[in-house]
Amino acid sequence: MDIVKEVQAAGLKPPLTIRVQDLLRHRVTQINEAFRKAIQEEGYDGRYRGVFPIKVNQLREVVEEILDAGEEYDFGLEAGSKPELIIAMALLENRKALLICNGYKDEEYIELALMGRRLGKQTIIVVEQVSEIDNIIRIARKMGVQPHIGLRVKLTTAGEGKWADSTGENAKFGLTAAEIVQVTDKLAQAKMKQALRLVHFHIGSQVPNIGTIKKAVIEATRFYCELKRMGFPMGILDVGGGLGIDYDGSRSAYESSMNYSMEVYARDVVANIKQICQESRVALPDIVSESGRALVAPHSILIFEAVDRITRDTPQHEPLKKATHPILKELDSIRKNKGKFDPLERYHDAKAKREEAHARFSLGNLKLEERAQADQLFWNICRQIQKDLANTPDIPDELARLESMLAEQYVCNFSVFQSLLDHWALDQLFPIAPIHRLNERPQVQATLVDITCDSDGKVDDFIDLEDVRRTLSVHTLKEGQPYYIGAFMVGAYQDIMGDLHNLFGRVNEAHVFLEDDEEDGFYIEESIPGYSVERILGMIQYNAEDLCRMMKRQVDKATKADSVRPREGVAMVDLYERLIAGRTYLIPNHEQKAKAKAKKPKGSG
Ligand SMILES: *Cc1c(COP(=O)(O)O)cnc(C)c1O
Repeated sequence: MDIVKEVQAAGLKPPLTIRVQDLLRHRVTQINEAFRKAIQEEGYDGRYRGVFPIKVNQLREVVEEILDAGEEYDFGLEAGSKPELIIAMALLENRKALLICNGYKDEEYIELALMGRRLGKQTIIVVEQVSEIDNIIRIARKMGVQPHIGLRVKLTTAGEGKWADSTGENAKFGLTAAEIVQVTDKLAQAKMKQALRLVHFHIGSQVPNIGTIKKAVIEATRFYCELKRMGFPMGILDVGGGLGIDYDGSRSAYESSMNYSMEVYARDVVANIKQICQESRVALPDIVSESGRALVAPHSILIFEAVDRITRDTPQHEPLKKATHPILKELDSIRKNKGKFDPLERYHDAKAKREEAHARFSLGNLKLEERAQADQLFWNICRQIQKDLANTPDIPDELARLESMLAEQYVCNFSVFQSLLDHWALDQLFPIAPIHRLNERPQVQATLVDITCDSDGKVDDFIDLEDVRRTLSVHTLKEGQPYYIGAFMVGAYQDIMGDLHNLFGRVNEAHVFLEDDEEDGFYIEESIPGYSVERILGMIQYNAEDLCRMMKRQVDKATKADSVRPREGVAMVDLYERLIAGRTYLIPNHEQKAKAKAKKPKGSG
């Protein structure tokens, strides 16, 4: 909250991404130390040479921070496309660090990677498709470069978790055993056996179960040993990504969690490679991991504001009107005869009566006010039932659902599609909690809805001690006071996969460093404004000036026709121009009021 206040004072309002740069550094150190320790403890004769796959978060400040923190460990980068390679080539200057080149490759991609070799960089081109090898051989010859090549193997071991189906035999990447033989034959024919240095695999992201990782490492190490036996120099085994994040804190093999730690991961990778290589009497390789999510997920927090609430029933403090229509009288008597029937029976009766009321309304036999009253009575009864059952174990299914039926919806000033995409796309859980009023007991159960015009733009799965819960405990909203909620661990994939649904665009950003000497223990190193309307319109081919001109022409026409006064017309054009330069997200009421107040000249009352 201190950070949010300080950023606001500098003019940037939520929705806001806070990046804690120290958390990036911390994770880089942690993974390198974890492998260092595992290597030492296992007496492993080889090094850890990790790389950061930049597709997980390409933001310059993120990549630079990781490289800076990783410098002493010779930590490198992984690129999966031409634009990513273009970034990596310029940023990675450490000649001892690896630059792993994955993904689909055209001639330009290969040429650029080989240019890296000429500059003394440790670029390794990982062959993912058989067709790539001919190009690599040809272009390397033309350039007079000795390439370093890796092979991505298709493992039988399928991943587990969200990406299970896209790995294993059905994967779109990687070479089968037959294809590996084909590629190695080509290398031998081209007298380029010396080029083959690395075996690579990737079994998908967020692997929740350590057992899967073990199996994959063992299978891949067999491939490594075989290639070594066939007389290729080799030297490096790349275990790809997949190292998880425990989003829900359960330390389980559940999708949004993981049943191992980073340290256990490192130890298992090292120990299994060692065992298989020793069995095969093969010298131990250097180990590479391409852990992306595990490095960057924790460093960023999304802050958004709940600006309104949607409830099903009318406010509790509004007294119930006297029931006049027979059906309303019946509902009212269900409400009054609290103790007489069992809760499930009361619920069924009330539900039937409400359905009847709706049917009568459709037939024209019930007035709008009466329908409203029927709804109000129904929800009133539901609340009673829920209250009565509060401490009852074993609540019948239908009544257990009352909790989410009665939950409020908090309207939050952000877009799920821009900032929390994986919640929508993959049902991924993120830790979400209010970031202030934490010494007050939250009294409301709510789901969160965003401000896109899309009914999918919502968050209604939250972390619970066991399983998931449909609602989040939040505080009541107070008139004129902002209420901020944070979504944590959003640093991996969310930033770049987010889209422009409804044209909201990127949110404001603040980059924070911890600093003991500062009063609050931190300072804001940099802030980046989110997209303006003008900027986002530009991305879909609208020119702001053109739009303003078009608007002005219409206003002029109306002025000429005397349907708009000239002064009014000028104000209209001003408004349009001001909004086009402004923010895409909502300006909450309390902010709007504060603005209006600040504008009012003194003495105007
Ligand atoms: C996406 C990807 C990674 C990163 O995976 P994480 O699970 O985020 O660590 C690593 N390697 C390759 C080849 C990838 O495609």
